[in-house]
Amino acid sequence: MKINSRYRALSIEDLQSTINNQNSFVPVAGPLPGIAQCKIQRGRKPKAGSRQPEPMSALILDGTRIAQEIRSEVAAELKEMAAAGLRPGLAVVLVGHNPASEIYVRGKVKACEEVGVYSEKLTPPESSTTEELLDLVEELNRRDEIDGILVQLPLPSQVDSKKVLLAVNPAKDVDGFHPMNVGFLSTQRPGLVPCTPGGVMEILRRSNIPVAGREAVVVGRSDIVGKPAAMLLTNANATVTICHSKTHDLPGVCRRADILVAAIGRAGMVTRDYVKPGATVIDVGMNSVTDPAESQRFFAGNAKREETFRKKGSTLIGDVHPEVAEIAGALTPVPGGVGPLTIAMLMFNTVKAAKMRRRTREFAKV
Ligand code: NAP
Repeated sequence: MKINSRYRALSIEDLQSTINNQNSFVPVAGPLPGIAQCKIQRGRKPKAGSRQPEPMSALILDGTRIAQEIRSEVAAELKEMAAAGLRPGLAVVLVGHNPASEIYVRGKVKACEEVGVYSEKLTPPESSTTEELLDLVEELNRRDEIDGILVQLPLPSQVDSKKVLLAVNPAKDVDGFHPMNVGFLSTQRPGLVPCTPGGVMEILRRSNIPVAGREAVVVGRSDIVGKPAAMLLTNANATVTICHSKTHDLPGVCRRADILVAAIGRAGMVTRDYVKPGATVIDVGMNSVTDPAESQRFFAGNAKREETFRKKGSTLIGDVHPEVAEIAGALTPVPGGVGPLTIAMLMFNTVKAAKMRRRTREFAKV
């Protein structure tokens, strides 16, 4: 299982600002469309006879607002549960002192406080062995007040990560990585769905973007994003193609997509040549650009980005090139697109786990 790549590409400053962004929790009253019209300058006019399509202004799918909406719903549900004497609990296991992991965990614990989930942070030392972590996971599996267990990755190199993840009770597997939950997803049974792909589907659903019957292309086949995203789209009746590093004519395949999901981990790789005019483009990528020339290549003329780069020495970019906003029908920005959904869906999953564990016998393993 490839599970560590999301921690590689980002600088600590980028991570911190992403988490801060995710935590800007504002209770929301009433439904929000989650869509804002993007103000994008019109691109170059195509030459006469050119096959280049007319530039368009993509709708920006506002992930921050959608995440707030989900958090508000979760908070409201938690209030009802509290009235019935139930407070779901999330245990986050943070092994050692990985600075990126510490930032992620801080964001998750803060989100718990904001919505009303009980949280516990466990911090075994860097020197922990597989056996010690298995014991810890087993103890958390047994504790009734803990509904969700999240083992923050990456684990130290001496630890068998797969073994530890496999030990998490599937009923408490709020990351949705356990093979049992993967199986539930692929057979359309109730289970816990990985947070980021779950968030992608929420963006589509809450933005009223039709999925059934549409062509969807997912670039990336990781266990945590690409594959579950493709499975969720299939379950929602899209016709799905999964692409990867060995795909021939990637731009050509991507141009078939009504819905294009980029989960690659390559800064700005998806250019306008990959996009059918009017398509919905979901950018899962989070990459840190630290090279001034590269930043200029993507963001020349974007005063806000130039300022960010000057201040921090880096800026965040997704897998989708900013020029795609001129041709896509709708687009998730980076930051502020898929990113904020991940923690919101973690809160959603914790509440779901609490409800499911009490209701279904399917999960009654502990
Ligand atoms: P990953 O495990 O590294 O998988 C990347 C996938 O992209 C692989 O399937 C790989 O193909 C494919 N790929 C790489 N280079 C390619 C190329 N040149 N052409 C076509 N396909 C290519 O990454 P991941 O964990 O899925 O994450 C993907 C991105 O999403 C990263 O930027 C990560 O930071 C971001 N992410 C964001 C969030 C969030 O909360 N927003 C959460 C998780 C991940 P092969 O299988 O053939 O190698």
